[in-house]
Amino acid sequence: MSQLEKRTWAEISLENIRHNYRAIRAALPEGCRFLGVVKANAYGHGALAVARTLEAEGADYLAVSCLDEAMELRDGGITAPLLILGHTPPEYTFLLADNDITQTVTNLKKAEEFSAACVHLGRRLRVHIALDTGMSRLGFLCGGDGAENILRAVRLPGLDCEGVFTHFAVADEVGADCEAYTRAQFRRFCDTIREVERGGFSFAIRHCANSGAVLRYPEMDLDMVRPGLLLYGYGDAEGKLGLRPCMRFMTRVSTIKHYPAGTPVSYGRRFVTERPTRMGVVGAGYADGLLRCLSNRCAFRVGDGFAEQRGSICMDMCMIDLTERPEAGVGSEVEIFGVESSLDTLADAAGTIPYELMCAVSRRVPRVYKDF
Ligand SMILES: *Cc1c(COP(=O)(O)O)cnc(C)c1O
Repeated sequence: MSQLEKRTWAEISLENIRHNYRAIRAALPEGCRFLGVVKANAYGHGALAVARTLEAEGADYLAVSCLDEAMELRDGGITAPLLILGHTPPEYTFLLADNDITQTVTNLKKAEEFSAACVHLGRRLRVHIALDTGMSRLGFLCGGDGAENILRAVRLPGLDCEGVFTHFAVADEVGADCEAYTRAQFRRFCDTIREVERGGFSFAIRHCANSGAVLRYPEMDLDMVRPGLLLYGYGDAEGKLGLRPCMRFMTRVSTIKHYPAGTPVSYGRRFVTERPTRMGVVGAGYADGLLRCLSNRCAFRVGDGFAEQRGSICMDMCMIDLTERPEAGVGSEVEIFGVESSLDTLADAAGTIPYELMCAVSRRVPRVYKDF
Protein backbone atom coordinates (compact mmCIF):
# COMPACT_ATOMS: atom_id res chain seq x y z
CA MET A 1 0.00 0.00 0.00
CA SER A 2 1.48 3.34 -0.98
CA GLN A 3 1.68 6.04 1.65
CA LEU A 4 -0.92 8.10 -0.22
CA GLU A 5 -3.41 5.25 -0.34
CA LYS A 6 -3.69 4.53 3.35
CA ARG A 7 -6.98 6.29 4.06
CA THR A 8 -8.91 8.06 1.28
CA TRP A 9 -7.47 9.01 -2.11
CA ALA A 10 -8.41 9.79 -5.70
CA GLU A 11 -6.83 7.75 -8.47
CA ILE A 12 -6.50 9.80 -11.63
CA SER A 13 -5.85 8.17 -14.98
CA LEU A 14 -4.09 10.59 -17.31
CA GLU A 15 -4.17 7.85 -19.94
CA ASN A 16 -7.98 8.03 -19.84
CA ILE A 17 -7.84 11.83 -20.12
CA ARG A 18 -5.71 11.33 -23.24
CA HIS A 19 -8.15 8.73 -24.55
CA ASN A 20 -11.11 11.08 -24.03
CA TYR A 21 -9.26 14.01 -25.60
CA ARG A 22 -8.54 11.93 -28.70
CA ALA A 23 -12.10 10.59 -28.88
CA ILE A 24 -13.55 14.12 -28.77
CA ARG A 25 -10.93 15.46 -31.17
CA ALA A 26 -11.74 12.70 -33.68
CA ALA A 27 -15.38 13.83 -33.72
CA LEU A 28 -14.51 17.44 -34.62
CA PRO A 29 -14.37 18.87 -38.12
CA GLU A 30 -10.92 19.47 -39.53
CA GLY A 31 -9.35 22.72 -38.44
CA CYS A 32 -11.59 23.12 -35.40
CA ARG A 33 -9.55 24.19 -32.39
CA PHE A 34 -9.83 22.40 -29.05
CA LEU A 35 -10.03 24.34 -25.79
CA GLY A 36 -9.80 22.06 -22.76
CA VAL A 37 -11.61 23.37 -19.70
CA VAL A 38 -9.40 22.81 -16.64
CA LYS A 39 -11.07 25.20 -14.19
CA ALA A 40 -11.77 24.14 -10.61
CA ASN A 41 -8.57 22.09 -10.42
CA ALA A 42 -9.60 20.34 -13.66
CA TYR A 43 -12.92 19.30 -12.14
CA GLY A 44 -11.00 17.86 -9.21
CA HIS A 45 -8.51 15.87 -11.29
CA GLY A 46 -5.54 18.17 -10.68
CA ALA A 47 -5.19 21.21 -12.95
CA LEU A 48 -1.48 21.05 -13.62
CA ALA A 49 -1.33 17.32 -14.38
CA VAL A 50 -4.35 17.53 -16.69
CA ALA A 51 -3.09 20.73 -18.36
CA ARG A 52 0.30 19.12 -19.04
CA THR A 53 -1.44 16.10 -20.53
CA LEU A 54 -3.67 18.20 -22.79
CA GLU A 55 -0.81 20.46 -23.81
CA ALA A 56 1.29 17.45 -24.79
CA GLU A 57 -1.65 16.11 -26.82
CA GLY A 58 -1.82 19.37 -28.74
CA ALA A 59 -4.81 21.14 -27.21
CA ASP A 60 -4.97 24.62 -28.76
CA TYR A 61 -6.25 26.44 -25.70
CA LEU A 62 -6.97 25.85 -22.02
CA ALA A 63 -9.52 27.64 -19.86
CA VAL A 64 -9.72 28.38 -16.16
CA SER A 65 -12.13 30.41 -14.07
CA CYS A 66 -9.86 32.97 -12.44
CA LEU A 67 -6.41 34.54 -12.24
CA ASP A 68 -5.14 32.29 -9.42
CA GLU A 69 -5.97 29.21 -11.47
CA ALA A 70 -4.23 30.71 -14.49
CA MET A 71 -1.11 31.57 -12.45
CA GLU A 72 -0.94 28.03 -11.06
CA LEU A 73 -0.65 26.78 -14.63
CA ARG A 74 1.83 29.42 -15.78
CA ASP A 75 3.95 28.88 -12.64
CA GLY A 76 3.83 25.15 -13.40
CA GLY A 77 5.31 25.73 -16.85
CA ILE A 78 2.18 25.59 -19.03
CA THR A 79 2.78 27.75 -22.11
CA ALA A 80 -0.41 26.97 -24.06
CA PRO A 81 -2.85 29.86 -24.66
CA LEU A 82 -4.92 30.30 -21.53
CA LEU A 83 -8.36 31.89 -21.25
CA ILE A 84 -9.85 33.15 -17.99
CA LEU A 85 -13.62 32.67 -18.23
CA GLY A 86 -14.53 34.78 -15.18
CA HIS A 87 -13.86 38.27 -13.91
CA THR A 88 -10.40 39.65 -13.09
CA PRO A 89 -10.20 43.06 -11.38
CA PRO A 90 -8.52 45.53 -13.79
CA GLU A 91 -5.79 46.31 -11.24
CA TYR A 92 -4.34 42.87 -12.09
CA THR A 93 -4.03 43.66 -15.78
CA PHE A 94 -0.23 43.68 -15.47
CA LEU A 95 -0.26 40.04 -14.35
CA LEU A 96 -2.49 39.08 -17.25
CA ALA A 97 -0.25 40.85 -19.73
CA ASP A 98 3.03 39.69 -18.17
CA ASN A 99 1.92 36.07 -18.26
CA ASP A 100 0.31 36.13 -21.68
CA ILE A 101 -3.11 35.24 -20.29
CA THR A 102 -6.26 35.87 -22.32
CA GLN A 103 -9.03 37.61 -20.39
CA THR A 104 -12.76 37.40 -21.01
CA VAL A 105 -14.39 40.80 -21.39
CA THR A 106 -18.05 40.90 -20.49
CA ASN A 107 -19.21 44.49 -20.95
CA LEU A 108 -18.10 47.86 -22.30
CA LYS A 109 -17.21 49.33 -18.92
CA LYS A 110 -14.80 46.52 -18.10
CA ALA A 111 -13.36 46.71 -21.61
CA GLU A 112 -12.61 50.38 -21.03
CA GLU A 113 -11.05 49.67 -17.63
CA PHE A 114 -8.77 46.94 -19.03
CA SER A 115 -7.82 49.13 -21.97
CA ALA A 116 -7.03 52.10 -19.74
CA ALA A 117 -4.85 49.91 -17.52
CA CYS A 118 -3.02 48.60 -20.61
CA VAL A 119 -2.44 52.06 -22.05
CA HIS A 120 -1.05 53.11 -18.67
CA LEU A 121 1.31 50.08 -18.69
CA GLY A 122 2.22 50.51 -22.34
CA ARG A 123 0.94 46.97 -23.00
CA ARG A 124 -1.84 45.21 -24.83
CA LEU A 125 -4.12 42.57 -23.41
CA ARG A 126 -5.46 39.67 -25.46
CA VAL A 127 -9.18 39.28 -24.83
CA HIS A 128 -12.23 37.27 -25.84
CA ILE A 129 -15.60 39.00 -25.85
CA ALA A 130 -18.40 37.13 -24.04
CA LEU A 131 -21.94 37.44 -25.39
CA ASP A 132 -24.99 36.78 -23.26
CA THR A 133 -27.33 35.04 -25.69
CA GLY A 134 -29.64 33.55 -23.07
CA MET A 135 -27.58 32.16 -20.20
CA SER A 136 -28.23 35.41 -18.31
CA ARG A 137 -24.86 35.34 -16.61
CA LEU A 138 -21.84 37.17 -18.01
CA GLY A 139 -21.53 38.88 -21.36
CA PHE A 140 -22.59 41.74 -23.62
CA LEU A 141 -26.32 41.62 -24.19
CA CYS A 142 -27.36 40.94 -27.77
CA GLY A 143 -29.83 43.08 -29.67
CA GLY A 144 -30.38 46.80 -29.11
CA ASP A 145 -27.01 48.54 -28.95
CA GLY A 146 -25.21 45.23 -28.22
CA ALA A 147 -23.22 45.10 -31.46
CA GLU A 148 -22.42 48.80 -31.21
CA ASN A 149 -21.00 48.33 -27.69
CA ILE A 150 -18.93 45.38 -28.86
CA LEU A 151 -17.55 47.46 -31.73
CA ARG A 152 -16.57 50.15 -29.28
CA ALA A 153 -14.84 47.57 -27.07
CA VAL A 154 -12.87 45.87 -29.85
CA ARG A 155 -11.54 49.23 -31.05
CA LEU A 156 -10.09 50.23 -27.70
CA PRO A 157 -6.33 50.82 -27.97
CA GLY A 158 -5.23 48.51 -25.14
CA LEU A 159 -7.12 45.43 -26.27
CA ASP A 160 -6.16 42.79 -28.78
CA CYS A 161 -9.49 41.15 -29.44
CA GLU A 162 -8.86 37.59 -30.57
CA GLY A 163 -12.12 35.81 -29.90
CA VAL A 164 -15.82 35.90 -29.16
CA PHE A 165 -17.90 33.32 -27.34
CA THR A 166 -21.19 32.51 -25.69
CA HIS A 167 -22.34 29.85 -23.25
CA PHE A 168 -25.40 27.60 -23.56
CA ALA A 169 -27.92 27.12 -20.77
CA VAL A 170 -29.52 23.83 -21.85
CA ALA A 171 -27.34 22.28 -24.58
CA ASP A 172 -26.91 19.20 -22.37
CA GLU A 173 -30.64 18.69 -21.81
CA VAL A 174 -32.93 16.67 -24.05
CA GLY A 175 -36.32 17.74 -25.36
CA ALA A 176 -37.70 19.94 -28.10
CA ASP A 177 -37.93 22.99 -25.85
CA CYS A 178 -34.25 22.83 -24.86
CA GLU A 179 -33.24 22.24 -28.45
CA ALA A 180 -35.22 25.29 -29.59
CA TYR A 181 -33.65 27.39 -26.83
CA THR A 182 -30.12 26.31 -27.76
CA ARG A 183 -30.74 26.99 -31.44
CA ALA A 184 -32.12 30.43 -30.58
CA GLN A 185 -29.00 31.18 -28.51
CA PHE A 186 -26.81 30.08 -31.42
CA ARG A 187 -28.78 32.24 -33.88
CA ARG A 188 -28.44 35.29 -31.61
CA PHE A 189 -24.69 34.59 -31.32
CA CYS A 190 -24.22 34.37 -35.10
CA ASP A 191 -26.46 37.39 -35.78
CA THR A 192 -24.53 39.57 -33.37
CA ILE A 193 -21.18 38.50 -34.80
CA ARG A 194 -22.48 39.30 -38.28
CA GLU A 195 -23.54 42.75 -37.14
CA VAL A 196 -20.08 43.37 -35.68
CA GLU A 197 -18.54 42.18 -38.94
CA ARG A 198 -20.71 44.57 -40.89
CA GLY A 199 -19.32 47.25 -38.60
CA GLY A 200 -15.85 46.34 -39.85
CA PHE A 201 -14.42 43.91 -37.29
CA SER A 202 -14.08 40.15 -37.47
CA PHE A 203 -13.00 37.74 -34.75
CA ALA A 204 -10.31 35.12 -35.35
CA ILE A 205 -11.87 32.57 -32.97
CA ARG A 206 -15.64 32.16 -32.50
CA HIS A 207 -16.64 29.50 -29.97
CA CYS A 208 -19.71 28.34 -28.11
CA ALA A 209 -19.81 24.53 -27.81
CA ASN A 210 -19.62 23.13 -24.27
CA SER A 211 -19.79 19.35 -23.74
CA GLY A 212 -23.54 19.20 -24.38
CA ALA A 213 -23.24 21.02 -27.70
CA VAL A 214 -20.16 19.05 -28.82
CA LEU A 215 -22.28 15.92 -28.50
CA ARG A 216 -25.61 17.17 -29.82
CA TYR A 217 -25.00 20.15 -32.12
CA PRO A 218 -21.89 19.54 -34.25
CA GLU A 219 -22.95 22.40 -36.53
CA MET A 220 -22.15 24.75 -33.64
CA ASP A 221 -18.45 23.79 -33.39
CA LEU A 222 -17.37 26.93 -35.33
CA ASP A 223 -13.66 27.77 -34.86
CA MET A 224 -13.18 26.11 -31.47
CA VAL A 225 -15.02 23.86 -29.00
CA ARG A 226 -14.90 24.17 -25.23
CA PRO A 227 -15.63 20.84 -23.52
CA GLY A 228 -15.01 20.16 -19.85
CA LEU A 229 -17.15 17.30 -18.60
CA LEU A 230 -16.56 15.07 -21.65
CA LEU A 231 -12.80 15.22 -21.06
CA TYR A 232 -13.34 13.69 -17.65
CA GLY A 233 -15.45 10.88 -19.06
CA TYR A 234 -19.02 11.99 -18.34
CA GLY A 235 -21.89 13.67 -20.14
CA ASP A 236 -22.23 11.12 -22.96
CA ALA A 237 -25.06 8.97 -21.64
CA GLU A 238 -25.49 7.15 -24.95
CA GLY A 239 -21.82 6.24 -25.14
CA LYS A 240 -21.34 7.74 -28.61
CA LEU A 241 -17.71 8.67 -27.97
CA GLY A 242 -16.64 5.70 -25.83
CA LEU A 243 -15.32 7.92 -23.06
CA ARG A 244 -13.67 6.58 -19.92
CA PRO A 245 -13.93 7.84 -16.34
CA CYS A 246 -10.68 9.42 -15.19
CA MET A 247 -11.16 9.53 -11.42
CA ARG A 248 -11.70 6.76 -8.88
CA PHE A 249 -12.63 8.09 -5.45
CA MET A 250 -11.25 5.46 -3.09
CA THR A 251 -11.21 4.72 0.60
CA ARG A 252 -10.36 1.78 2.81
CA VAL A 253 -12.05 -0.22 5.56
CA SER A 254 -10.36 0.85 8.79
CA THR A 255 -12.33 -1.09 11.40
CA ILE A 256 -15.01 -3.79 11.54
CA LYS A 257 -17.64 -4.02 14.30
CA HIS A 258 -20.41 -6.54 15.00
CA TYR A 259 -23.77 -5.29 16.27
CA PRO A 260 -27.02 -7.03 17.20
CA ALA A 261 -30.31 -6.08 15.54
CA GLY A 262 -31.77 -2.86 16.92
CA THR A 263 -28.48 -0.92 17.18
CA PRO A 264 -28.64 2.76 16.20
CA VAL A 265 -25.75 3.88 14.00
CA SER A 266 -23.99 7.27 13.83
CA TYR A 267 -25.15 10.84 14.59
CA GLY A 268 -28.88 11.29 14.88
CA ARG A 269 -29.47 7.52 15.01
CA ARG A 270 -30.78 7.79 11.47
CA PHE A 271 -30.15 4.12 10.82
CA VAL A 272 -30.98 1.20 13.12
CA THR A 273 -29.71 -2.29 12.30
CA GLU A 274 -32.45 -4.74 11.36
CA ARG A 275 -30.31 -7.84 11.75
CA PRO A 276 -27.01 -8.82 13.31
CA THR A 277 -24.67 -6.65 11.29
CA ARG A 278 -21.02 -6.69 10.38
CA MET A 279 -20.35 -2.98 10.01
CA GLY A 280 -17.27 -1.49 8.40
CA VAL A 281 -15.95 1.97 9.23
CA VAL A 282 -14.27 3.75 6.32
CA GLY A 283 -12.13 6.88 6.52
CA ALA A 284 -14.14 9.07 4.14
CA GLY A 285 -16.56 11.75 5.23
CA TYR A 286 -18.04 15.01 4.08
CA ALA A 287 -14.74 16.83 4.68
CA ASP A 288 -13.33 14.59 1.95
CA GLY A 289 -16.17 15.46 -0.38
CA LEU A 290 -18.55 12.61 0.38
CA LEU A 291 -21.67 14.76 0.65
CA ARG A 292 -23.63 14.29 3.85
CA CYS A 293 -26.91 14.35 1.92
CA LEU A 294 -25.91 10.90 0.60
CA SER A 295 -26.29 9.40 4.10
CA ASN A 296 -28.25 6.12 3.93
CA ARG A 297 -28.72 6.62 0.17
CA CYS A 298 -25.73 5.04 -1.53
CA ALA A 299 -23.64 1.89 -1.86
CA PHE A 300 -19.94 1.47 -2.60
CA ARG A 301 -18.04 -1.24 -4.41
CA VAL A 302 -15.96 -3.40 -2.06
CA GLY A 303 -14.74 -6.99 -2.36
CA ASP A 304 -16.90 -8.84 -4.90
CA GLY A 305 -19.95 -6.61 -4.67
CA PHE A 306 -21.51 -3.55 -3.10
CA ALA A 307 -21.98 -2.46 0.51
CA GLU A 308 -24.80 -0.12 1.56
CA GLN A 309 -23.71 3.04 3.35
CA ARG A 310 -25.45 3.20 6.75
CA GLY A 311 -26.13 6.05 9.16
CA SER A 312 -25.22 9.72 8.88
CA ILE A 313 -21.99 10.41 6.99
CA CYS A 314 -19.64 12.09 9.49
CA MET A 315 -16.97 14.68 8.76
CA ASP A 316 -14.12 12.17 8.50
CA MET A 317 -15.70 8.72 8.25
CA CYS A 318 -18.83 6.76 7.57
CA MET A 319 -20.15 3.23 8.02
CA ILE A 320 -20.90 0.55 5.43
CA ASP A 321 -22.72 -2.77 5.89
CA LEU A 322 -20.31 -5.61 5.18
CA THR A 323 -22.60 -8.41 6.40
CA GLU A 324 -22.90 -9.80 2.88
CA ARG A 325 -19.31 -9.03 1.98
CA PRO A 326 -17.39 -11.52 4.17
CA GLU A 327 -14.49 -11.34 1.71
CA ALA A 328 -13.97 -7.69 2.69
CA GLY A 329 -11.90 -7.07 5.80
CA VAL A 330 -9.87 -4.41 7.52
CA GLY A 331 -7.68 -2.83 4.81
CA SER A 332 -10.00 -3.66 1.90
CA GLU A 333 -10.27 -0.99 -0.78
CA VAL A 334 -13.65 0.67 -1.27
CA GLU A 335 -14.60 2.51 -4.45
CA ILE A 336 -16.93 5.42 -3.69
CA PHE A 337 -17.24 6.27 -7.38
CA GLY A 338 -15.23 5.59 -10.49
CA VAL A 339 -15.22 2.41 -12.53
CA GLU A 340 -17.63 0.06 -10.79
CA SER A 341 -19.47 2.48 -8.50
CA SER A 342 -21.23 4.84 -10.90
CA LEU A 343 -20.73 8.56 -10.41
CA ASP A 344 -24.00 9.20 -12.26
CA THR A 345 -25.92 6.98 -9.81
CA LEU A 346 -24.26 8.70 -6.86
CA ALA A 347 -25.05 12.15 -8.28
CA ASP A 348 -28.70 11.17 -8.77
CA ALA A 349 -28.85 9.95 -5.16
CA ALA A 350 -27.44 13.29 -4.00
CA GLY A 351 -29.89 15.22 -6.18
CA THR A 352 -27.03 16.82 -8.08
CA ILE A 353 -24.86 16.46 -11.17
CA PRO A 354 -21.56 14.58 -11.64
CA TYR A 355 -19.72 17.91 -11.89
CA GLU A 356 -20.47 18.75 -8.26
CA LEU A 357 -19.31 15.42 -6.85
CA MET A 358 -16.02 15.56 -8.76
CA CYS A 359 -15.37 19.13 -7.66
CA ALA A 360 -16.32 18.24 -4.09
CA VAL A 361 -13.38 15.84 -3.63
CA SER A 362 -11.45 18.01 -1.22
CA ARG A 363 -7.87 19.11 -0.88
CA ARG A 364 -7.34 16.60 1.93
CA VAL A 365 -7.70 13.78 -0.57
CA PRO A 366 -4.36 13.03 -2.24
CA ARG A 367 -4.46 12.64 -6.01
CA VAL A 368 -2.62 9.52 -7.09
CA TYR A 369 -1.75 9.43 -10.78
CA LYS A 370 -2.07 5.90 -12.06
CA ASP A 371 -3.92 4.37 -14.96
CA PHE A 372 -6.86 1.99 -14.59
C1 LIG B 1 -17.38 25.34 -17.45
C2 LIG B 1 -17.53 25.93 -18.78
C3 LIG B 1 -17.42 25.13 -19.93
C4 LIG B 1 -17.33 23.64 -19.89
O1 LIG B 1 -18.60 23.09 -19.62
P1 LIG B 1 -18.86 21.52 -19.71
O2 LIG B 1 -20.32 21.39 -19.52
O3 LIG B 1 -18.09 20.89 -18.60
O4 LIG B 1 -18.39 21.07 -21.04
C5 LIG B 1 -17.44 25.78 -21.16
N1 LIG B 1 -17.59 27.12 -21.25
C6 LIG B 1 -17.72 27.91 -20.17
C7 LIG B 1 -17.89 29.38 -20.35
C8 LIG B 1 -17.72 27.34 -18.91
O5 LIG B 1 -17.86 28.12 -17.84
